[in-house]
Amino acid sequence: MEIKVLKFGGSSLADSNQFKKVAAIIKSKDSRRYIIASAPGKRDSGDQKITDLLYESYILSQKNEDIDEIFKKIEDRFNRIIEELELDFSLKDEFKKIKSSIYNHIGMDYILSRGEYLNSMILAKYLGYDFIDAEKRILFSEDGTLDRQNTDLVLGELLKKHKRAVIPGFYGSMSDGTIKTFSRGGSDITGSIVARAVEADVYENWTDVSGMLMADPRCVEEPKVIDLITYKELRELSYMGATIMHEEAIFPVKQSGIPINIRNTNLPEDKGTMIVAKARSENTDRIITGIAGRTGFTTIHIEKDMMNQEVGFGRKVLKILENHSIPFEHIPTGIDTMSIIVNSNLMVDNKEVIKNEICKTVNPDIIDIEDGLAMIAVVGRGMVEEKGTAMKVFSSINKASINVKMIDQGSSEINIIIGVDEKDYILALRTIYSEFVE
Ligand code: ASP
Repeated sequence: MEIKVLKFGGSSLADSNQFKKVAAIIKSKDSRRYIIASAPGKRDSGDQKITDLLYESYILSQKNEDIDEIFKKIEDRFNRIIEELELDFSLKDEFKKIKSSIYNHIGMDYILSRGEYLNSMILAKYLGYDFIDAEKRILFSEDGTLDRQNTDLVLGELLKKHKRAVIPGFYGSMSDGTIKTFSRGGSDITGSIVARAVEADVYENWTDVSGMLMADPRCVEEPKVIDLITYKELRELSYMGATIMHEEAIFPVKQSGIPINIRNTNLPEDKGTMIVAKARSENTDRIITGIAGRTGFTTIHIEKDMMNQEVGFGRKVLKILENHSIPFEHIPTGIDTMSIIVNSNLMVDNKEVIKNEICKTVNPDIIDIEDGLAMIAVVGRGMVEEKGTAMKVFSSINKASINVKMIDQGSSEINIIIGVDEKDYILALRTIYSEFVE
Protein backbone atom coordinates (compact mmCIF):
# COMPACT_ATOMS: atom_id res chain seq x y z
CA MET A 1 0.00 0.00 0.00
CA GLU A 2 1.24 3.45 -0.89
CA ILE A 3 2.48 5.50 2.08
CA LYS A 4 2.40 9.26 2.17
CA VAL A 5 3.91 11.32 4.96
CA LEU A 6 2.42 14.79 5.32
CA LYS A 7 3.82 17.72 7.25
CA PHE A 8 1.60 20.70 7.98
CA GLY A 9 3.24 24.01 8.86
CA GLY A 10 2.10 26.50 11.50
CA SER A 11 -0.15 28.53 9.21
CA SER A 12 -1.90 25.31 8.10
CA LEU A 13 -2.79 24.58 11.73
CA ALA A 14 -3.26 28.08 13.08
CA ASP A 15 -6.96 27.75 13.99
CA SER A 16 -9.94 25.41 13.83
CA ASN A 17 -10.81 26.44 10.31
CA GLN A 18 -7.32 25.44 9.14
CA PHE A 19 -7.64 22.14 11.07
CA LYS A 20 -10.78 21.39 9.05
CA LYS A 21 -8.95 21.99 5.77
CA VAL A 22 -6.09 19.79 6.94
CA ALA A 23 -8.43 16.96 7.92
CA ALA A 24 -10.20 17.13 4.55
CA ILE A 25 -6.84 16.85 2.77
CA ILE A 26 -5.73 13.89 4.88
CA LYS A 27 -9.03 12.03 4.59
CA SER A 28 -9.20 12.50 0.81
CA LYS A 29 -6.52 9.82 0.28
CA ASP A 30 -6.17 6.56 2.15
CA SER A 31 -2.40 6.62 1.64
CA ARG A 32 -2.03 9.78 3.78
CA ARG A 33 -1.08 7.89 6.90
CA TYR A 34 1.63 9.68 8.87
CA ILE A 35 1.15 13.31 9.76
CA ILE A 36 3.68 15.74 11.23
CA ALA A 37 2.23 18.82 12.90
CA SER A 38 3.80 22.20 13.65
CA ALA A 39 2.66 24.45 16.48
CA PRO A 40 -0.14 26.90 15.62
CA GLY A 41 1.32 29.75 13.58
CA LYS A 42 0.01 33.26 12.92
CA ARG A 43 -3.67 33.61 12.03
CA ASP A 44 -3.00 37.04 10.50
CA SER A 45 -0.05 39.38 10.20
CA GLY A 46 -0.62 40.91 13.64
CA ASP A 47 -0.81 37.55 15.39
CA GLN A 48 1.89 35.66 17.32
CA LYS A 49 3.13 32.11 16.76
CA ILE A 50 2.69 29.74 19.69
CA THR A 51 6.42 28.94 19.58
CA ASP A 52 7.19 32.64 19.99
CA LEU A 53 4.80 32.90 22.94
CA LEU A 54 6.47 29.89 24.55
CA TYR A 55 9.84 31.51 24.02
CA GLU A 56 8.61 34.72 25.64
CA SER A 57 7.34 32.80 28.66
CA TYR A 58 10.70 31.07 28.95
CA ILE A 59 12.52 34.42 28.92
CA LEU A 60 10.15 35.87 31.54
CA SER A 61 10.67 32.87 33.79
CA GLN A 62 14.44 33.26 33.47
CA LYS A 63 14.04 36.75 34.86
CA ASN A 64 11.78 35.31 37.57
CA GLU A 65 8.88 37.34 36.22
CA ASP A 66 5.25 36.32 36.15
CA ILE A 67 4.15 34.24 33.13
CA ASP A 68 0.42 34.03 33.92
CA GLU A 69 -0.70 36.50 31.29
CA ILE A 70 1.37 35.08 28.46
CA PHE A 71 0.60 31.49 29.37
CA LYS A 72 -3.12 32.30 29.39
CA LYS A 73 -2.76 33.41 25.76
CA ILE A 74 -1.25 30.03 24.91
CA GLU A 75 -3.97 28.11 26.74
CA ASP A 76 -6.71 30.18 25.10
CA ARG A 77 -5.36 29.49 21.61
CA PHE A 78 -5.43 25.71 22.13
CA ASN A 79 -8.71 25.73 24.04
CA ARG A 80 -10.40 27.68 21.29
CA ILE A 81 -9.29 25.16 18.66
CA ILE A 82 -10.57 22.27 20.81
CA GLU A 83 -13.88 24.03 21.44
CA GLU A 84 -14.50 25.01 17.84
CA LEU A 85 -13.70 21.49 16.67
CA GLU A 86 -16.19 20.24 19.29
CA LEU A 87 -13.72 17.74 20.70
CA ASP A 88 -14.42 15.94 23.92
CA PHE A 89 -10.92 16.48 25.18
CA SER A 90 -9.01 18.65 27.63
CA LEU A 91 -5.39 19.73 27.85
CA LYS A 92 -5.81 21.04 31.40
CA ASP A 93 -3.33 18.61 32.99
CA GLU A 94 -0.81 19.19 30.22
CA PHE A 95 -1.01 22.96 30.68
CA LYS A 96 -0.44 22.56 34.40
CA LYS A 97 2.62 20.40 33.85
CA ILE A 98 4.12 22.72 31.25
CA LYS A 99 3.52 25.84 33.32
CA SER A 100 5.18 24.37 36.36
CA SER A 101 8.10 23.20 34.19
CA ILE A 102 8.55 26.77 33.00
CA TYR A 103 8.55 28.04 36.59
CA ASN A 104 11.02 25.31 37.52
CA HIS A 105 13.40 26.44 34.78
CA ILE A 106 13.25 23.23 32.79
CA GLY A 107 15.34 23.64 29.61
CA MET A 108 14.37 26.02 26.83
CA ASP A 109 14.08 23.29 24.19
CA TYR A 110 11.49 21.44 26.25
CA ILE A 111 9.36 24.58 26.54
CA LEU A 112 9.69 25.51 22.85
CA SER A 113 8.70 21.99 21.81
CA ARG A 114 5.36 22.05 23.65
CA GLY A 115 3.54 23.86 20.83
CA GLU A 116 4.09 20.93 18.48
CA TYR A 117 3.33 18.44 21.25
CA LEU A 118 -0.05 19.93 22.16
CA ASN A 119 -1.11 20.67 18.59
CA SER A 120 -0.33 17.10 17.52
CA MET A 121 -2.43 15.75 20.38
CA ILE A 122 -5.39 17.81 19.20
CA LEU A 123 -4.91 16.82 15.57
CA ALA A 124 -4.61 13.12 16.43
CA LYS A 125 -7.83 13.34 18.41
CA TYR A 126 -9.63 15.20 15.62
CA LEU A 127 -8.51 12.73 12.95
CA GLY A 128 -8.89 9.63 15.09
CA TYR A 129 -5.22 8.80 14.45
CA ASP A 130 -2.73 7.53 17.04
CA PHE A 131 -0.56 10.13 18.76
CA ILE A 132 3.12 9.17 18.75
CA ASP A 133 5.38 11.46 20.74
CA ALA A 134 8.72 12.36 19.13
CA GLU A 135 10.42 12.07 22.52
CA LYS A 136 12.64 8.95 22.64
CA ARG A 137 11.84 8.30 18.95
CA ILE A 138 13.67 11.11 17.19
CA LEU A 139 17.10 10.67 18.72
CA PHE A 140 19.99 13.06 19.00
CA SER A 141 23.64 12.14 19.52
CA GLU A 142 25.79 13.63 22.26
CA ASP A 143 27.13 16.30 19.87
CA GLY A 144 23.56 17.54 19.28
CA THR A 145 23.22 16.18 15.75
CA LEU A 146 20.55 13.71 14.71
CA ASP A 147 21.36 10.07 15.46
CA ARG A 148 20.14 8.88 12.06
CA GLN A 149 20.69 5.17 12.44
CA ASN A 150 18.95 4.72 15.77
CA THR A 151 16.14 7.10 14.84
CA ASP A 152 15.45 5.13 11.63
CA LEU A 153 15.43 1.93 13.59
CA VAL A 154 13.31 2.98 16.58
CA LEU A 155 10.85 5.08 14.59
CA GLY A 156 10.60 2.64 11.69
CA GLU A 157 9.84 -0.30 14.00
CA LEU A 158 7.31 1.65 16.04
CA LEU A 159 5.41 3.15 13.11
CA LYS A 160 5.02 -0.28 11.53
CA LYS A 161 2.66 -1.00 14.42
CA HIS A 162 0.56 2.10 13.79
CA LYS A 163 -1.30 2.33 10.54
CA ARG A 164 -2.13 5.99 11.01
CA ALA A 165 -0.41 8.41 13.35
CA VAL A 166 0.28 12.05 14.15
CA ILE A 167 3.83 12.87 15.24
CA PRO A 168 4.85 16.29 16.58
CA GLY A 169 7.47 18.09 14.50
CA PHE A 170 10.51 20.10 15.58
CA TYR A 171 11.93 18.02 18.43
CA GLY A 172 13.28 14.74 19.73
CA SER A 173 15.39 13.81 22.71
CA MET A 174 18.95 13.17 23.86
CA SER A 175 20.00 9.78 25.20
CA ASP A 176 19.36 10.98 28.79
CA GLY A 177 15.78 11.83 27.82
CA THR A 178 16.17 15.63 27.69
CA ILE A 179 14.09 17.23 24.97
CA LYS A 180 16.07 18.78 22.12
CA THR A 181 14.69 20.85 19.25
CA PHE A 182 15.97 21.39 15.74
CA SER A 183 16.52 24.99 14.70
CA ARG A 184 13.42 27.09 13.95
CA GLY A 185 11.24 25.68 11.20
CA GLY A 186 12.53 22.24 12.10
CA SER A 187 9.22 20.38 11.68
CA ASP A 188 10.24 20.10 8.02
CA ILE A 189 13.16 17.95 9.17
CA THR A 190 10.90 15.73 11.30
CA GLY A 191 8.71 15.14 8.24
CA SER A 192 11.70 14.08 6.22
CA ILE A 193 12.95 11.77 8.98
CA VAL A 194 9.55 10.09 9.32
CA ALA A 195 9.26 9.72 5.54
CA ARG A 196 12.57 7.88 5.49
CA ALA A 197 11.80 5.73 8.54
CA VAL A 198 8.54 4.43 7.03
CA GLU A 199 10.02 4.28 3.50
CA ALA A 200 7.31 6.58 2.20
CA ASP A 201 6.49 6.92 -1.46
CA VAL A 202 6.26 10.66 -1.11
CA TYR A 203 6.78 13.34 1.52
CA GLU A 204 4.10 16.03 1.15
CA ASN A 205 5.06 19.31 2.76
CA TRP A 206 1.89 21.39 3.14
CA THR A 207 2.32 25.11 3.57
CA ASP A 208 0.64 28.36 2.52
CA VAL A 209 2.10 28.74 -0.98
CA SER A 210 1.51 26.65 -4.09
CA GLY A 211 5.12 25.62 -4.49
CA MET A 212 8.49 27.15 -5.13
CA LEU A 213 8.62 30.15 -7.42
CA MET A 214 11.06 30.57 -10.31
CA ALA A 215 12.25 33.89 -8.89
CA ASP A 216 11.78 36.12 -5.87
CA PRO A 217 8.34 37.77 -6.20
CA ARG A 218 9.73 40.89 -4.53
CA CYS A 219 11.97 41.36 -7.57
CA VAL A 220 10.07 39.73 -10.45
CA GLU A 221 6.37 40.27 -11.04
CA GLU A 222 4.27 37.11 -10.60
CA PRO A 223 6.98 34.53 -11.19
CA LYS A 224 5.84 31.08 -12.29
CA VAL A 225 5.76 28.08 -9.98
CA ILE A 226 8.45 25.42 -10.51
CA ASP A 227 6.70 22.11 -11.31
CA LEU A 228 9.71 19.85 -10.90
CA ILE A 229 13.14 20.49 -9.41
CA THR A 230 15.99 18.18 -8.46
CA TYR A 231 17.58 18.19 -5.00
CA LYS A 232 20.75 19.52 -6.63
CA GLU A 233 18.99 22.41 -8.32
CA LEU A 234 17.21 23.21 -5.08
CA ARG A 235 20.51 23.27 -3.24
CA GLU A 236 21.93 25.75 -5.76
CA LEU A 237 18.92 28.03 -5.44
CA SER A 238 18.67 27.83 -1.68
CA TYR A 239 22.34 28.72 -1.35
CA MET A 240 21.28 32.00 -2.96
CA GLY A 241 18.48 32.44 -0.46
CA ALA A 242 15.52 30.92 -2.33
CA THR A 243 14.16 28.70 0.38
CA ILE A 244 10.90 26.82 0.50
CA MET A 245 11.58 24.74 3.60
CA HIS A 246 14.26 24.10 6.22
CA GLU A 247 17.57 23.57 4.43
CA GLU A 248 18.39 20.39 6.36
CA ALA A 249 15.06 18.78 5.52
CA ILE A 250 16.31 17.54 2.19
CA PHE A 251 19.01 15.24 3.53
CA PRO A 252 17.05 12.38 5.16
CA VAL A 253 14.81 11.82 2.11
CA LYS A 254 17.56 12.53 -0.39
CA GLN A 255 19.45 9.47 0.74
CA SER A 256 16.46 7.25 0.07
CA GLY A 257 15.39 9.09 -3.07
CA ILE A 258 11.94 9.94 -1.67
CA PRO A 259 10.35 12.85 -3.56
CA ILE A 260 9.07 15.90 -1.71
CA ASN A 261 5.90 17.58 -2.87
CA ILE A 262 5.38 21.17 -1.68
CA ARG A 263 1.61 21.82 -1.48
CA ASN A 264 -0.74 24.60 -0.46
CA THR A 265 -3.25 23.82 2.33
CA ASN A 266 -5.42 26.72 1.19
CA LEU A 267 -5.42 25.62 -2.47
CA PRO A 268 -5.15 21.83 -2.22
CA GLU A 269 -5.99 21.23 -5.88
CA ASP A 270 -2.77 23.00 -6.96
CA LYS A 271 -0.10 20.44 -7.83
CA GLY A 272 2.70 22.40 -6.17
CA THR A 273 6.39 21.66 -6.69
CA MET A 274 7.89 18.17 -6.87
CA ILE A 275 11.44 17.90 -5.55
CA VAL A 276 13.07 14.75 -6.89
CA ALA A 277 16.42 12.98 -6.79
CA LYS A 278 16.85 12.78 -10.53
CA ALA A 279 15.13 14.17 -13.56
CA ARG A 280 16.32 13.84 -17.10
CA SER A 281 17.42 17.14 -18.53
CA GLU A 282 14.97 16.74 -21.40
CA ASN A 283 12.19 16.27 -18.85
CA THR A 284 11.57 19.98 -18.77
CA ASP A 285 10.07 22.42 -21.20
CA ARG A 286 12.17 25.20 -19.77
CA ILE A 287 15.92 25.65 -20.01
CA ILE A 288 16.11 27.17 -16.58
CA THR A 289 14.41 25.98 -13.43
CA GLY A 290 14.88 29.09 -11.33
CA ILE A 291 16.89 32.22 -10.67
CA ALA A 292 17.98 33.47 -7.27
CA GLY A 293 20.45 35.98 -6.00
CA ARG A 294 21.90 37.74 -3.03
CA THR A 295 23.58 41.05 -2.34
CA GLY A 296 26.27 41.71 0.24
CA PHE A 297 29.41 40.18 -1.24
CA THR A 298 32.95 41.51 -1.25
CA THR A 299 35.58 40.77 -3.91
CA ILE A 300 39.26 40.44 -3.06
CA HIS A 301 40.93 40.86 -6.41
CA ILE A 302 44.60 39.91 -6.71
CA GLU A 303 46.93 40.18 -9.71
CA LYS A 304 50.51 39.06 -10.04
CA ASP A 305 52.59 38.31 -13.14
CA MET A 306 53.32 34.58 -13.51
CA MET A 307 50.91 33.75 -10.68
CA ASN A 308 50.06 30.50 -12.45
CA GLN A 309 53.60 29.23 -11.91
CA GLU A 310 53.84 30.12 -8.26
CA VAL A 311 53.13 26.89 -6.39
CA GLY A 312 51.01 27.42 -3.26
CA PHE A 313 49.89 30.96 -4.16
CA GLY A 314 46.17 30.24 -3.74
CA ARG A 315 46.70 28.17 -0.61
CA LYS A 316 48.65 30.95 1.11
CA VAL A 317 45.93 33.52 0.37
CA LEU A 318 43.16 31.18 1.52
CA LYS A 319 45.11 30.36 4.67
CA ILE A 320 44.99 34.04 5.62
CA LEU A 321 41.20 34.01 5.26
CA GLU A 322 41.04 30.78 7.23
CA ASN A 323 43.01 32.40 10.05
CA HIS A 324 40.29 35.07 10.18
CA SER A 325 37.55 32.40 10.07
CA ILE A 326 36.29 33.63 6.70
CA PRO A 327 34.97 30.99 4.30
CA PHE A 328 35.07 31.79 0.60
CA GLU A 329 32.00 31.66 -1.62
CA HIS A 330 33.65 31.59 -5.06
CA ILE A 331 37.12 31.84 -6.52
CA PRO A 332 37.10 32.76 -10.20
CA THR A 333 40.69 32.71 -11.48
CA GLY A 334 42.63 33.80 -14.57
CA ILE A 335 46.24 33.05 -15.54
CA ASP A 336 47.67 35.86 -13.45
CA THR A 337 44.56 36.86 -11.52
CA MET A 338 42.54 35.48 -8.70
CA SER A 339 39.34 36.85 -7.18
CA ILE A 340 37.93 35.62 -3.94
CA ILE A 341 34.31 36.35 -3.19
CA VAL A 342 33.36 36.47 0.46
CA ASN A 343 30.39 37.55 2.56
CA SER A 344 30.81 41.29 3.26
CA ASN A 345 29.58 40.94 6.86
CA LEU A 346 32.70 38.95 7.68
CA MET A 347 35.03 41.64 6.33
CA VAL A 348 33.68 44.71 8.10
CA ASP A 349 36.48 45.34 10.60
CA ASN A 350 39.40 43.43 9.18
CA LYS A 351 39.72 44.58 5.57
CA GLU A 352 42.97 46.49 6.00
CA VAL A 353 44.54 43.80 8.18
CA ILE A 354 43.75 41.11 5.62
CA LYS A 355 44.99 43.25 2.76
CA ASN A 356 48.31 43.82 4.55
CA GLU A 357 48.71 40.15 5.38
CA ILE A 358 48.11 39.15 1.74
CA CYS A 359 50.63 41.79 0.56
CA LYS A 360 53.24 40.55 3.01
CA THR A 361 52.68 36.86 2.24
CA VAL A 362 52.36 36.71 -1.56
CA ASN A 363 53.56 40.14 -2.67
CA PRO A 364 50.95 40.78 -5.39
CA ASP A 365 51.27 43.44 -8.12
CA ILE A 366 47.71 44.60 -7.49
CA ILE A 367 45.27 43.94 -4.67
CA ASP A 368 41.86 45.46 -4.53
CA ILE A 369 39.08 44.82 -2.02
CA GLU A 370 35.67 45.94 -3.23
CA ASP A 371 32.25 45.74 -1.54
CA GLY A 372 28.85 45.95 -3.17
CA LEU A 373 28.76 42.80 -5.27
CA ALA A 374 25.53 40.92 -5.90
CA MET A 375 25.51 37.36 -7.20
CA ILE A 376 22.82 35.76 -9.29
CA ALA A 377 22.52 32.03 -9.89
CA VAL A 378 20.76 30.90 -13.04
CA VAL A 379 19.94 27.26 -12.36
CA GLY A 380 18.53 24.58 -14.60
CA ARG A 381 19.13 20.97 -15.58
CA GLY A 382 17.84 22.00 -19.02
CA MET A 383 21.10 23.91 -19.55
CA VAL A 384 23.14 20.69 -19.75
CA GLU A 385 21.61 19.77 -23.10
CA GLU A 386 20.97 23.22 -24.45
CA LYS A 387 23.73 25.12 -26.25
CA GLY A 388 24.06 28.88 -25.96
CA THR A 389 22.44 29.40 -22.54
CA ALA A 390 25.38 31.39 -21.19
CA MET A 391 25.32 33.54 -24.29
CA LYS A 392 21.63 34.19 -23.80
CA VAL A 393 22.22 35.24 -20.18
CA PHE A 394 25.05 37.58 -21.05
CA SER A 395 23.54 39.11 -24.16
CA SER A 396 20.31 39.86 -22.27
CA ILE A 397 22.07 41.69 -19.49
CA ASN A 398 24.37 43.36 -21.95
CA LYS A 399 21.30 44.73 -23.74
CA ALA A 400 20.16 46.13 -20.39
CA SER A 401 23.58 47.86 -20.09
CA ILE A 402 24.55 45.92 -16.99
CA ASN A 403 28.21 45.27 -16.41
CA VAL A 404 29.10 41.66 -15.48
CA LYS A 405 31.82 41.66 -12.83
CA MET A 406 32.24 37.93 -12.37
CA ILE A 407 31.24 34.70 -14.08
CA ASP A 408 31.37 31.21 -12.61
CA GLN A 409 29.88 28.08 -14.10
CA GLY A 410 29.53 25.13 -11.76
CA SER A 411 31.17 21.92 -12.98
CA SER A 412 27.80 20.14 -12.97
CA GLU A 413 26.71 22.60 -15.69
CA ILE A 414 23.37 23.15 -14.01
CA ASN A 415 24.20 26.67 -12.90
CA ILE A 416 25.77 29.86 -14.10
CA ILE A 417 26.65 32.38 -11.44
CA ILE A 418 27.21 35.98 -12.36
CA GLY A 419 28.33 38.87 -10.22
CA VAL A 420 26.95 42.35 -10.83
CA ASP A 421 27.05 45.62 -9.00
CA GLU A 422 24.41 45.73 -6.25
CA LYS A 423 22.72 48.68 -7.93
CA ASP A 424 22.05 46.52 -11.01
CA TYR A 425 20.86 43.49 -9.06
CA ILE A 426 17.09 43.71 -9.48
CA LEU A 427 17.25 44.80 -13.10
CA ALA A 428 19.61 41.89 -13.87
CA LEU A 429 17.24 39.40 -12.21
CA ARG A 430 14.24 40.73 -14.14
CA THR A 431 16.13 40.81 -17.41
CA ILE A 432 17.33 37.23 -17.16
CA TYR A 433 13.92 36.00 -16.03
CA SER A 434 12.10 37.57 -18.96
CA GLU A 435 14.74 36.29 -21.39
CA PHE A 436 13.97 32.69 -20.42
CA VAL A 437 10.36 32.76 -19.25
CA GLU A 438 7.66 34.02 -21.53
N1 ASP B 1 7.15 25.82 15.62
C1 ASP B 1 8.53 25.88 15.25
C2 ASP B 1 8.86 27.25 14.70
O1 ASP B 1 8.00 28.13 14.73
C3 ASP B 1 8.94 24.78 14.34
C4 ASP B 1 8.19 24.68 13.04
O2 ASP B 1 7.13 25.29 12.87
O3 ASP B 1 8.67 23.98 12.14
O4 ASP B 1 9.95 27.45 14.26
